[in-house]
Amino acid sequence: MASQNPVAEAPNIWAVAQSQFDHAADKLSLDDGMRRVLRVPQRELTVNFPVTMDDGSVAVFTGHRVQHNVSRGPGKGGIRYHQDVTLDEVRALAMWMSWKCACVNIPYGGAKGGVVVDPKKLSIREVEGLTRRFTTEISPLIGPDRDIPAPDVNTNAQTMAWIMDTYSMHHGYTIAGVVTGKPISIGGSLGRNEATARGAVFTLLQASKALDVPLVGARVAIQGYGNAGSIAATLLADEGAKIVAVSDSTGGIHNAAGLDPAKVSSWKQEHGTVVGFPGSDEISNREILEVDCDILVPAALENQITKQNAPNIKAKIIAEAANGPTTPEADEILYDRGVFLIPDILCNAGGVTVSYFEWVQDMQSFFWTEERINESLKEIMDRAFESVHAMSERHEVDMRTAAYMVAVARVAEATTLRGLYP
Ligand code: GLU
Repeated sequence: MASQNPVAEAPNIWAVAQSQFDHAADKLSLDDGMRRVLRVPQRELTVNFPVTMDDGSVAVFTGHRVQHNVSRGPGKGGIRYHQDVTLDEVRALAMWMSWKCACVNIPYGGAKGGVVVDPKKLSIREVEGLTRRFTTEISPLIGPDRDIPAPDVNTNAQTMAWIMDTYSMHHGYTIAGVVTGKPISIGGSLGRNEATARGAVFTLLQASKALDVPLVGARVAIQGYGNAGSIAATLLADEGAKIVAVSDSTGGIHNAAGLDPAKVSSWKQEHGTVVGFPGSDEISNREILEVDCDILVPAALENQITKQNAPNIKAKIIAEAANGPTTPEADEILYDRGVFLIPDILCNAGGVTVSYFEWVQDMQSFFWTEERINESLKEIMDRAFESVHAMSERHEVDMRTAAYMVAVARVAEATTLRGLYP
């Protein structure tokens, strides 16, 4: 019988990432030595560090920075603040960043960071103190030519500003390129805030063409109403889609006649939750995945679409704006059922792609127009979608396996060309 507690059954996300890699490695007939190299992260740093809290007490937090592979360029990947962060989760997210950067063919390796904390329980000053001390602790690893953090779950442009300032203070001058996703006024890029959602919508436009499922009138459900989910809702509504359900960490709302994303955002801003939005029915974060819709956008956390709920999903297309929302068992069920899934390492790569543009602009101290950014993003996302889709048709594999085959082959090629040192 299915357990009442889905978390208890959730597979270890690092084991999931490794099994996805193994599957692609089999398909590519990757040699054993290369498998051993790419199956584990190159570098891992765990730090326990003190922060003075507002009441004068000292709290100790644990954080990690992991670099999976840096053969194609500096490590790249976000830093998340979440109470459930583990080293295994950060390993998986770092490995996924290697594949993501390779999938869209930008010159980075994969990295990720995380601190075990619920930042919603801290004051702004405490979050700043935590950020500055964590930056100091991981500063042996990061740098514009080494490893470049960015926002992720519960971190934002302000967090990046503190990281950039702390790193710059250590060096005695401003080093904007050490992080991306910064505020525009200190070297951030136009379009970065919207980039993850915009990239996901570009992949959805390609999928809608390939499958002949028009976005105009398509019914969309979105799990997660943070940076990716809320902006995706707005952009999809602009394309003529109808947003029938959305949720955040506190619960979800449903209205078959459609929700206005801008009004939902102001409601959330005012009440701290989407729940209670006028004219909507309340649904849970589990129910939203099974809602009657054409397109499902998981835009929250890992392990949401599992073998338990995959048979009940009604959507024809799933666009993974989140990292790792689908388990391998669920992947198989969805593929057999003919659901078209745009995998995370392709679907949400718009964020890191505009991070790349931000880093290039910082290096050159020359800033692009938003039009140029969005056009360049579209070019990269369309090209990546085409190569993954072509791979999936040529080898008759699902889109995730195809994306992995494209990405792992690129990382393996770079690793082989560079050879082993010493
Ligand atoms: N955290 C985002 C991701 O998972 C963005 C990473 C970046 O821009 O470096 O892709």
